Amino acid sequence: MAMTETGARVLVVEDNDMNMQLVEYLLEKGGYQIVKAASGEEALSIARTGDPVDLILMDIHLPGIDGLSVVREMKTDAVTSAIPILALTAHAMRGDKDRFLEAGCDGYISKPIDVKTFLSSIRTYLRA
Ligand code: MN
Repeated sequence: MAMTETGARVLVVEDNDMNMQLVEYLLEKGGYQIVKAASGEEALSIARTGDPVDLILMDIHLPGIDGLSVVREMKTDAVTSAIPILALTAHAMRGDKDRFLEAGCDGYISKPIDVKTFLSSIRTYLRA
C-alpha cells in the first residue's frame, strides 16, 4: 500500500535543533531517510549536488537566505524544480499560505508540528 514511499529521502531544512530532532524522529519512525541542513545555503548545495531527494521540508525563518528565497531558487533551477517542497512555519496565518504557494511551495506544515498528522501529510505530498 504505502510501500513505494518507504525509504524515500527527505531533505529537512531547519535551524532549530529541537524542531529538527522531532522531525527526524517522526520521519525515521515512518521509514524515511533524512538529510539535514541547518541553512538555506546548505540546502541549496545538497539539493543541487547531493543524491536526489524526494521531498523537501523547508523552515521559512533561517539565518542567511530565508526559506522562501531558497524555494524560489530551487523552483527556477531545472535540477531541483520538480522536488515537492513543504514550508515548515509557525506563521501559517491568512495570507501566508498565498506567499508560500507564490514562492513555489507545494504546501505547508504548521509548527508546532502535529505528531498525529505529520506522516500522513508527508505521504500526501510524496504522492502528489
Ligand atoms: Mn527557523
